[in-house]
Amino acid sequence: MLRIAGITPFSTVDWPDKIVCVAFLSGCPWACPYCQNPQLRHIESAAQTEEDLLAFVDRRVGLLDGVVFSGGEPLAQAEVVDVIRAVRDKGFLVGLHTCGAYPERLRAVLPYVSWVGLDVKAPWDLYERMTGSATSAERARQNLDVLLESGVAYETRTTWHPDLLGADDMSRIAYDLAKRGVGTWAVQAYRATGTTGELANKTVYPHDVPTDLPPLFDRYEFRRA
Ligand code: SF4
Repeated sequence: MLRIAGITPFSTVDWPDKIVCVAFLSGCPWACPYCQNPQLRHIESAAQTEEDLLAFVDRRVGLLDGVVFSGGEPLAQAEVVDVIRAVRDKGFLVGLHTCGAYPERLRAVLPYVSWVGLDVKAPWDLYERMTGSATSAERARQNLDVLLESGVAYETRTTWHPDLLGADDMSRIAYDLAKRGVGTWAVQAYRATGTTGELANKTVYPHDVPTDLPPLFDRYEFRRA
């Protein structure tokens, strides 16, 4: 049974240029201090299952381009692979937001996925501080490799709180991504909405991004997280 915390019936912001619904799956192995859905980290947050999602999309044929799987971490539950395939078989495009914790599961779903939004949370040596997981850097790096090898369309994005990452850290992230051939990067300014409030209520602005970073990418965006 796939455990789903909720379904947003209509969104134009969760997949660039697509009209989608968004399934927020329960569960996440990491604990980022800026998480805007901390309650979704716990599997008990689930109120719906894949039966609800598949029945919902059946009523949206012709009205939506696709379905985005988000969370929490949507790849935390093994059942997601079959559900993604089922949604794809119904004729919908599938998008995926992932933190990068499950490279093998990402490999399994990519044949059915048309777009991925992948978090890159920190320079690799600072990952554990951000996620609370000693294995997170290695997993996230593998995720990025799997994604880039696949040829599936994607964006990478980094949430920036000035107490967690300095401008020099953002530079290290950006230059490493560019070196790996990443073409799309978004900087998401921290917003306190929905968080546990453990971080100071500070944010960053477009002019805080070092000017040499945006030109490293074919597509760069600064956005409110
Ligand atoms: S990986 Fe995503 S869902 Fe999990 S704690 Fe971090 S921000 Fe929240």
